[in-house]
Amino acid sequence: MFHKYAFQVSTLSAVRVRFAPSPTGYLHVGGARTALFNWLYARKVGGVFVLRIEDTDAERSSTEMVDGILDSLQWLGLNWDEGPFFQSQRKDLYLTAARKLQEKGFAYRCYCHPSELNELRLQAEKSGKPWKYDGRCTALSPQDHQRLDAEGRTFAVRFRVPQEGAVKFQDIVFGDVEFSHDQIEDFVLIRSDGLPTFHLSVVVDDIDMHISHVIRGADHLSNTPKHILLFQALDAPMPAFAHVPLILGPDRSRLSKRHGATAAGAYREMGILAEAMRNFLSLLGWSPGDNRELMRTPELIEAYSLEGISRSSAVFDLQKLEWFNSQYMQLLTAEELEPLAKEKFIQQGCWNPDWEGESRQWFLKTLELIKPRMRSLNDLTGASRAFFADDFPLDMAAKEKFWKDERLSELLSQLAGEIDGIDAFDATTAEQALRTFADKSGVKAGLLINAARVALTGQAVAPSLFAVMETLGKAKTVRRLQAAAQILTAPAS
Ligand code: GLU
Repeated sequence: MFHKYAFQVSTLSAVRVRFAPSPTGYLHVGGARTALFNWLYARKVGGVFVLRIEDTDAERSSTEMVDGILDSLQWLGLNWDEGPFFQSQRKDLYLTAARKLQEKGFAYRCYCHPSELNELRLQAEKSGKPWKYDGRCTALSPQDHQRLDAEGRTFAVRFRVPQEGAVKFQDIVFGDVEFSHDQIEDFVLIRSDGLPTFHLSVVVDDIDMHISHVIRGADHLSNTPKHILLFQALDAPMPAFAHVPLILGPDRSRLSKRHGATAAGAYREMGILAEAMRNFLSLLGWSPGDNRELMRTPELIEAYSLEGISRSSAVFDLQKLEWFNSQYMQLLTAEELEPLAKEKFIQQGCWNPDWEGESRQWFLKTLELIKPRMRSLNDLTGASRAFFADDFPLDMAAKEKFWKDERLSELLSQLAGEIDGIDAFDATTAEQALRTFADKSGVKAGLLINAARVALTGQAVAPSLFAVMETLGKAKTVRRLQAAAQILTAPAS
């Protein structure tokens, strides 16, 4: 007998997808990409995005990990419509399903002790055969069960995989997939400690939550035949399956810490914008079918389709992410950047509440001014720190290069005086003052401009000096020019 099961199209009418992380670690980049693909699909077709925490493995799961995962998903803007549901709170559902499967003959008790199974496995390995549980406990009668129970033996519950035939299905990404039944062992549904396994809980939940499309990592492809057998045995409508390709490092080995941070949250720390991250992740194994790469989220949603997911592994390229990020720094308006900047300043302990009060216009204008040179949000408290705080670092290379001229200590001090004398201080009047002063002193304006830029920002490269002066205001400009003059006067230590 040969079963043919082809399920390209979900037999459920409403689109409901889920992201089902196991909280045994932080949210990995691969997990974030899986979550994003589910989210994009739900948003594209007006479906429901469910969040389910697969925490049945109590020893390896922790609430800190759960919080970390939720936090990263929130940061990425992947808002869920239902959940989070916790499998640890749904155990009864799985046990009921296991009972039902036993009643109907789809599952049976296995009293084999782990040491016994281990012995069998070793024997198989010795004789060069691949190990597969041989189904010896299927032969046990109810009387045998009673006897073994009386002996105090514990049992696991195994699914009875039909001996003949094959599971065939059509994965949306990988196309026709076939596993003959003899490749699949009678897998465990309930372990001898009474805990449901991943296979059982995932299918019971997908049924209970009416999941129409299972979109998950390709590492689960080999689990899918087992899941399909369970869906059938539980007489449930079959979801469609889409397995998304692996993510590799640039050397084409599986993405690992060697290639850079693998925790999605680490990119937040690096000052990556969530929207840039979404765009970057979306292209790890998916494409809109044309050459577009830079796509803001509404455009991504519009372009998204499961058919656009590719079968070949995706390569994680950190430089590309950095490129996306600098593009997004330019694409976002100052108003869009404002809450993100606030979050970053708060995180770094240098947020000034005035910036959303009386100085809000100044704050927005300053963001606008520094945006063109920003590569990440971290530049706010890094290279652009001088705009927001007085304790900014002085770049040594900039100092070397632009504070060489011995006349500068005198010149900067005098320039401070000139600036101080301006009544209507702004970029234009500051420029006039500086150029007039340069002429008067017989030096090139460039000498003063470069030296003053280092004095005001600590950096060799910054926006137009006069715009910088206007942003800092007269008092700070004067103070910093004087401070620089003083450093230059002080004998080198
Ligand atoms: N909990 C599984 C994992 O973290 C995902 C299961 C699934 O998506 O079906 O890999």
